[in-house]
Amino acid sequence: YNVPKAVNEPVKSYAPGSAERKALIETYKKMFNQQVDIPFYIGGKEYRTGNTVDIHPPHDHKHCVGKYHTADKEHIELAVKKAAEARVKWAATSWEHRAAIFLKAAELLAGPFRYKMNAATMIAQSKNVFQAEIDSACELIDFLRFNVEFMTEIYSNQPQSSPGIWNRMEYRPLEGFVYAITPFNFTAIAGNLPAAPALMGNVVIWKPASSQVYSAQVIMELFKAAGLPDGVINMVTGNSAMITDVLLNSSDFSGVHFTGSTPVFNSFWETIGKNMNTYKTYPRIVGETGGKDFIWAHASSNPQEVATAISRGAFEYQGQKCSAASRAYMPKSLWPAIKEAVIKDVNSFKMGSPEDTSNFINAVIDKRAFKKLSGYLEQAKKATDAEIIVGGGYDDAVGYFIEPTVIVTTNPMYETMCTELFGPIITIYVYEDEKWLETLDLVDKTGEYALTGAIFSGDRYIIDIATNKLENAAGNFYINDKPTGAVVGQQPFGGARGSGTNDKAGSVWNLLRWVSNRTIKETF
Ligand code: GLU
Repeated sequence: YNVPKAVNEPVKSYAPGSAERKALIETYKKMFNQQVDIPFYIGGKEYRTGNTVDIHPPHDHKHCVGKYHTADKEHIELAVKKAAEARVKWAATSWEHRAAIFLKAAELLAGPFRYKMNAATMIAQSKNVFQAEIDSACELIDFLRFNVEFMTEIYSNQPQSSPGIWNRMEYRPLEGFVYAITPFNFTAIAGNLPAAPALMGNVVIWKPASSQVYSAQVIMELFKAAGLPDGVINMVTGNSAMITDVLLNSSDFSGVHFTGSTPVFNSFWETIGKNMNTYKTYPRIVGETGGKDFIWAHASSNPQEVATAISRGAFEYQGQKCSAASRAYMPKSLWPAIKEAVIKDVNSFKMGSPEDTSNFINAVIDKRAFKKLSGYLEQAKKATDAEIIVGGGYDDAVGYFIEPTVIVTTNPMYETMCTELFGPIITIYVYEDEKWLETLDLVDKTGEYALTGAIFSGDRYIIDIATNKLENAAGNFYINDKPTGAVVGQQPFGGARGSGTNDKAGSVWNLLRWVSNRTIKETF
């Protein structure tokens, strides 16, 4: 299988005064002052029902950049029908044809679509230039490129044959459609969740998060420009519960590719279990869900490195990454140095609109998130066992702004030490240096999740013990680095426990979930 060797897309720096920064900001301004009218897509056709939802940038919520139309039940039923029609041809196309389409999409995104995709992500998801670039450009390009290589790795895995007997394995698409349901926080995930099953020959019905529909439309334009046939990826918008209900009740349902909250994913399992007799085959259930990701530092670690991991790992994209550090365990002897460095770092972060590229912190996604997060800040201000050492402010007059906040607690079970917040708040527990081993137990036993985690130590013996003790605490485990920013092809991403099925986005293991293998024995 000869395919172009996948390489990670280089990250553009958008340096001040550069032509690329100018081009991106011009695109941003143009789009910001336009009114889009976003349809949903079934069988390649655009649908506009007139039932619309306005789109407001989180950092400027009184401003409107357009609207999207929402589907009714009969549209979702139509999507099931159109997907089945498209499947006939798509499942029979050659792998080279499918690969070429997605490889072309990668190159179009690296070229003419790049600024539009980044600007869309900056406007509607409130990401700064750098966060948009590493997500909606580089990571999505990487998913598209690497998955082609992973697909051929899978195809080349064949059983042994012998003279007179030819054994082979066919990696066939699933018999039905895949339901992709995607979050607001990564445009790359929104693109990859429908694209990965489609690359393997499946048809997909995709429901993007309401606050990501703006960049989701650009993804649909990208796939179309790359030559993806009508009906292979159908993007529907509207009431999640209704859409899920129709799709999980369909006899054509053959799998779900999910990133979102743990309770929603759990409800999928329940519905699928109840509907089991409806389906032609056991559906594939693949999900990445919540996290309560940790940083643990030993007294042998470098305080400056730990501080940087805290301020970057917790506050990039306002902490709205499933992988964001949100609880930390610091040794008493190093704490004064770490604390000083974290406060200095956080105080240097500017907050505001992504249009001003010097703003590191932008808004949180919506009013609901703002209310929830500001509630936790108020609670911490009143608590007797917690103290805010930096941040704590919030203001929604123009946008949903929450200051990056560090809470220090004397209670390792303090609420924000255990509960997923999905915002720019990290809670820190300071432990006595000699209790490092007991603290590792605490790290492992706190909360229900196991997505990402980071340990810091300058002592290889300590690193070995901590790595073993925390073997089930994180699907992505970082030694002396922050727990965010997994790169496709380098750190396959996903967690276990309450964090998901650990099928590692951007990997051979993920793509294997989207095939139903046929073993063929031919005798001569
Ligand atoms: N892959 C991302 C990272 O490593 C996180 C993905 C997510 O938030 O779901 O930071």
